[in-house]
Amino acid sequence: MHEAGAAQAIVGILTAEAEARGATRVSCVRVVAGEAGAYMEESLAFYLGFFAKGGPVEGARLELRLVKPRMRCRACGQEFERVHFSFACPGCGGEAEVADLGQEFYIESADFEGVEAPCAEAGNRACV
Ligand SMILES: [Zn+2]
Repeated sequence: MHEAGAAQAIVGILTAEAEARGATRVSCVRVVAGEAGAYMEESLAFYLGFFAKGGPVEGARLELRLVKPRMRCRACGQEFERVHFSFACPGCGGEAEVADLGQEFYIESADFEGVEAPCAEAGNRACV
C-alpha cells in the first residue's frame, strides 16, 4: 500500500502550493510514475480523496501517466522502451541494459482554481 504514502505526499505538496498561490482549490493533478513502482491508479485516487478531505485538494481529478523502463543497447547505444521481457535491441539485436529503472514518481502539473491575484502585484508568489 505504498499508494497511501504517495497520496499523502501529493496532497501535502499541492495544499502548500495552493496556499502559496492563493488558490481556493486544485481541480486536477497529473502524476508521472514509473511502471516499476507498480502504482495502481484506483488505489492512488482513493487515498488522494482520503487525505484531501476538507482541504483545497478535495475533489481533484487524478491523471496518472505510467512510464516504462528505458533500455540502452550495449552494442549500438540505441535507447528504447523495454518490450515484454526481452532485452534485445530493436535496432541491431544486441544485448541491452537498463538505462532508467522507471521508478520515478513526481507531480507533472496541477490545475489551480480561484487564483485572482494579478501577476503585477509585488511579492505575489503565484508569479514565480
Ligand atoms: Zn543495438
